[in-house]
Amino acid sequence: MQEKESAVLLLFTGGTISMAEDPKSGALRPIDFDHIQDYMPELAMTGIKVKSIPILPLIDSSDVEPLIWERLALIIKENYHLYDGFVILHGTDTMAYSASALSFMLVHLSKPVIFTGSQLPIGVMRTDAKENLLTAIEIAAAKENGQSIVPEVCIFFEDTLFRGNRTTKKNAEHFSAFGSHNYHPLGRAGVHIKYFRSYINYPHAGVKLRVRSQVDQNVVLLKIFPGITESTVRAILEIPNLKAVVLESFGAGNAPRREWFYNALKAATDRGILIVNRSQCSTGSVEMGRYETSLNLVNAGVISAYDCTTEAIVTKLMCLLGECTSIDDVKHHLNVSICGEMTV
Ligand code: ASP
Repeated sequence: MQEKESAVLLLFTGGTISMAEDPKSGALRPIDFDHIQDYMPELAMTGIKVKSIPILPLIDSSDVEPLIWERLALIIKENYHLYDGFVILHGTDTMAYSASALSFMLVHLSKPVIFTGSQLPIGVMRTDAKENLLTAIEIAAAKENGQSIVPEVCIFFEDTLFRGNRTTKKNAEHFSAFGSHNYHPLGRAGVHIKYFRSYINYPHAGVKLRVRSQVDQNVVLLKIFPGITESTVRAILEIPNLKAVVLESFGAGNAPRREWFYNALKAATDRGILIVNRSQCSTGSVEMGRYETSLNLVNAGVISAYDCTTEAIVTKLMCLLGECTSIDDVKHHLNVSICGEMTV
């Protein structure tokens, strides 16, 4: 399926995958990218031309910032015409946030951008890094009739290819670290790599890549729990410059019916703050109005996040707030799926 002379650009951001044990001290430290072939002689056997660029300084992904997403998006744009696909090596902890962010930033993407990482460093014996990386490269290069098979921002991990903005880190220990609870995987790697094409988004032909590079970080997560106090809720909703709140609610989008809670939310939406309702459950969708306990939210002007992941709705808000010129424009985009992040 992969055509001759494919070329893939590999962007290293850090994380466990890019480490090896120091032969003297035994401590883990970042590998030297110019010598990636020393750790992975298999790369030469793929028949794919791989060039790598480190995004320095290499970081643990807990330190990832929107500025790094912007750098990644701009490097992809600059090199877009030179490569068949892109692989981003990233720590697993925030990979779902970065993949979601890039899916919103790379508008009209027609080539694969595959995030991967590993639970064990590339330079240790039982590592999962090699398989993850080699398969991610193969997927990034995969074409049929001159078109990329998976022209989406994805996460490949263990044996499964996921849509990036549908993915969540679910396990801190197992090699199978990611899940996509509300959307079918896009592919699975076994003896062959199988692509589930009916779940893959294909762009309109001939539309040029555009980068949404402005990100607005004035977004907050408010996770409710039985016993949450009015002062906590008000303190969050009154954060200076706040523009949007992801309200993590119960079940199908329910919240306490206390009057103070309604008043606090209503006062915030009246001030132009967007409040988006996302369930604390990992599977299923918000259904506002199904129970009485979510009617208050509808009346307070809260918007549904449907079945979006927290990672996707937070980064979608950041990108929309960075680009849209009016609240109504942001609201309009919140109600539609921009790049497959939710089922409306
Ligand atoms: N803490 C690491 C990171 O996210 C874990 C990993 O790479 O898997 O960068």
